[in-house]
Amino acid sequence: MPHLFAGPADLHLHSNHSDGTEPPAEVVRQAHAHGVRTLALTDHDRTTGWAEAGDAAVALGMTFLPGMELSAKHEWRSVHVLGYLFDPDDAALRAETDRIRSDRIGRAERIVRNIGRDYDLVWDDVLEQTASDATVGRPHIADALVARGIVRDRSEAFDGILHPREGYYEPHYAPDPLTAVRLITDAGGVAIIAHPVTSGRDRMMPEPFIERLIAAGLGGFEIDHRENTLQGKRILHGIAAAHDLIVTGSSDYHGSGKPNLPGENTTSEEMVARLIGRATGTTPRFP
Ligand code: AMP
Ligand code: ZN
Ligand code: FE
Ligand code: FE
Repeated sequence: MPHLFAGPADLHLHSNHSDGTEPPAEVVRQAHAHGVRTLALTDHDRTTGWAEAGDAAVALGMTFLPGMELSAKHEWRSVHVLGYLFDPDDAALRAETDRIRSDRIGRAERIVRNIGRDYDLVWDDVLEQTASDATVGRPHIADALVARGIVRDRSEAFDGILHPREGYYEPHYAPDPLTAVRLITDAGGVAIIAHPVTSGRDRMMPEPFIERLIAAGLGGFEIDHRENTLQGKRILHGIAAAHDLIVTGSSDYHGSGKPNLPGENTTSEEMVARLIGRATGTTPRFP
């Protein structure tokens, strides 16, 4: 029987297969350097980083959990659903991620066209900032704005030009959270709502709707995340206790693209064991 837990667990990190700034193996090295010993790679809508990250993790004596952050939408809210240990070849889930990823490209082009009316920015600038076939998002547009000298860093871009209030924003296709939870669960994975209670525009989904997600197979909540509010965390702990759900804590590391550092929040050994025990889609990789 392998050791289920190699040490501190960070279950939410991004590589340049989506909008992180480093290749998967470098993300793993950074996590290890920050004391993380169990990690999940959770690129947006994409699983192609698993092999490289898994190899790097095992070589460093770490436990690797394959994961993904699936884009969803509830009314006007962007909702992110973390999926762990699902079958990456599941046809229904793949069809959905293909659809999201291709719509994200057209959407990013529309945002760049909008920005281009007022600033010196073209689509090629974004392509230069985007690794081959990466899941394209506003962070890549932010990097292009930085390269053009229009803003200093991603945060300044998100607080300004990329914020919906500035009028350049465009939405992209994303499934309903119920669909997202069912797709992950039906693929043998465990669905965890990412940062469910960020302040500002992204308020929490209404509790009756969360109850429906739980009935549809939701596994739990990412509670220890720097963007969750204190009051929101208390509410989530209450719902999680009432339904005996899994609770996680993670960094949402994006390389140099965000201040979040690997291991700044972690998930308990008990919760990692519950995640692994509940999943049937694929297995973790152990050192
Ligand atoms: P999108 O999905 O294309 O709308 O972009 C949202 C992504 O941008 C999320 O995955 C966030 O991690 C990232 N993001 C949001 N706010 C910021 C910020 N202030 N600085 C850097 N990245 C951000
Ligand atoms: Zn991201
Ligand atoms: Fe997210
Ligand atoms: Fe994330």
